[in-house]
Amino acid sequence: MSVLVLVEPGEELSLQAISLARDLGGPLHALAIGQPGTELGAYGVETLHVAEDDRLSAYAPAAWAACLEQLVDQVQPDAVVAAGTNRGNEVLGHLAARRDLPFAANVIAVGSDGTVTRVRWGGSLIEEARIDSDLKLLTVAPHMVEATTVNGGSADVQKMDVTVDDADLVVRVVEHAETPSAGISLAEAKVVVSGGRGVGSADGFGMLEELAGLLNAAVGCSRVVTMAGWRPHTDQVGQTGTKVSPDLYIACGISGATQHIAGCKGAKKILAINSDAEAPILASADYAVIGDLSEIVPAITAELKKARAS
Ligand SMILES: Cc1cc2nc3c(=O)[nH]c(=O)nc-3n(C[C@H](O)[C@H](O)[C@H](O)COP(=O)(O)OP(=O)(O)OC[C@H]3O[C@@H](n4cnc5c(N)ncnc54)[C@H](O)[C@@H]3O)c2cc1C
Repeated sequence: MSVLVLVEPGEELSLQAISLARDLGGPLHALAIGQPGTELGAYGVETLHVAEDDRLSAYAPAAWAACLEQLVDQVQPDAVVAAGTNRGNEVLGHLAARRDLPFAANVIAVGSDGTVTRVRWGGSLIEEARIDSDLKLLTVAPHMVEATTVNGGSADVQKMDVTVDDADLVVRVVEHAETPSAGISLAEAKVVVSGGRGVGSADGFGMLEELAGLLNAAVGCSRVVTMAGWRPHTDQVGQTGTKVSPDLYIACGISGATQHIAGCKGAKKILAINSDAEAPILASADYAVIGDLSEIVPAITAELKKARAS
């Protein structure tokens, strides 16, 4: 039995993935594409394979999967593990497709009999599953497993000669663009003013921006809003967006679908502003104002301005 872990340089979640991988037993190998920034021996990695190729310095999912596949052939592991990041899931998805293998994402525990426990449906369902293949592919759900060190020494670092086909570089990162709302980070904001379909239009977010400015808050939104092109995807809160945990989450014209709640249930308090007294969000809200947000949001803004002027 041996296990191979894909390590993303500088990614804390990779240390959590290594910690879960140890539970699978056997010698632990890791693959780092580029230079790893962390001493992985302390986490139990025996051999660290470093793939260095100028063409891999930018993220390219198929090329990363090709490196992983070459190492699978070399090491012959029983399992390949990665962090449940966008990249970890994408690269293992590619590897699964290349090898025609099943792949379990968002695992939180592995049993001695090979069963895996994983989170599904944005954390509202815990599933026990068996991966029916000789080579098991899995990613580890973020922040569900503690990154712990062991009394390991230094990892044996081995440079890996990789063969990368041009076809595997067709999809790659060519540019990093700053997000348009480069102010307060959504993930770290203490207050989030978030809007859904009920806001009505991209222009409708002007009143949410104004309220957010007064509260030193970030602006978030639902997926309906990003799909409509009213706000960028970086503003989306939810299962397929950002997970937020502010002191106060103000949900304006958001119905409260489970996929949205998955992203804001970490908020200490939720204030819902909704015209529908039966909207599902009310089940998660600590406070609610039932009415038209185009009247309520400006009224809150006006009260705040008045209070601050006096
Ligand atoms: C795999 C998958 C992943 C998904 N991931 C996400 C995700 O990450 N984030 C996410 O948000 N969604 C996600 N969704 C979509 C989700 O299921 C819902 O469709 C979405 O959250 C609904 O957005 P909404 O609340 O803005 O719109 P709606 O459900 O249409 O709700 C609009 C609300 O606005 C209220 N309203 C209307 N007019 C007014 C007004 N004038 N004043 C006050 N209230 C008003 C209505 O009463 C209603 O409650 C996902 C779906 C799937 C299948």
